[in-house]
Amino acid sequence: PEKLVIMDETAIRRALTRIAHEILEKNKGVGDSIMIGIRTRGIYFANRIAERIREIEGVPVPVGELDITSYRDDRVRISPGSEAQSLNAPDIQDKRVILCDDVLFTGRTVRAAMDALIDLGRPRMIQLAVLVDRGHRELPIRPDYVGKNVPTSRLEQIEVRLNEVDRNDEVVIIQQ
Ligand code: 5GP
Ligand code: MG
Repeated sequence: PEKLVIMDETAIRRALTRIAHEILEKNKGVGDSIMIGIRTRGIYFANRIAERIREIEGVPVPVGELDITSYRDDRVRISPGSEAQSLNAPDIQDKRVILCDDVLFTGRTVRAAMDALIDLGRPRMIQLAVLVDRGHRELPIRPDYVGKNVPTSRLEQIEVRLNEVDRNDEVVIIQQ
């Protein structure tokens, strides 16, 4: 399979900085906002944006976590993990929730995440930030903030490498 780097470390850094500014501009600040990352890389993505916002604006933004599994079977499970449960138990009541994931594809994970959030409380609004939108939506879901739009074929795979878990920052498209 052929690999093509579509975002390097600099491109990822710039995209994160831009998204942080877009969030601040669109919402006129981050009062009453919370970032919620979806499982592994969405959580790092959320943390990094929160870090940028703190650098830019000087205010902390809480970050919570969601782990969505088995959504394809319609057996949605939210398991924020024991640590997440106690440390990051997201209080989303009346909050502006900025849902974060690494890659947006069919939209089914985001739909499941929204269901899970609405079960946890009543957010004032939910916005969506993704590092990569690779297209092929099967539901009427559209991101508010996008690192990069990457038209893909269904056979292609996007590999998101983040140095918290992968030793480097890189987005690669793998063509079969
Ligand atoms: P969806 O539910 O929109 O079909 O898929 C999005 C979820 O699956 C995200 O949590 C994302 O991490 C993962 N995903 C879907 N397609 C890809 C892909 O091409 N590359 C990566 N890294 N993750 C993907
Ligand atoms: Mg994922």
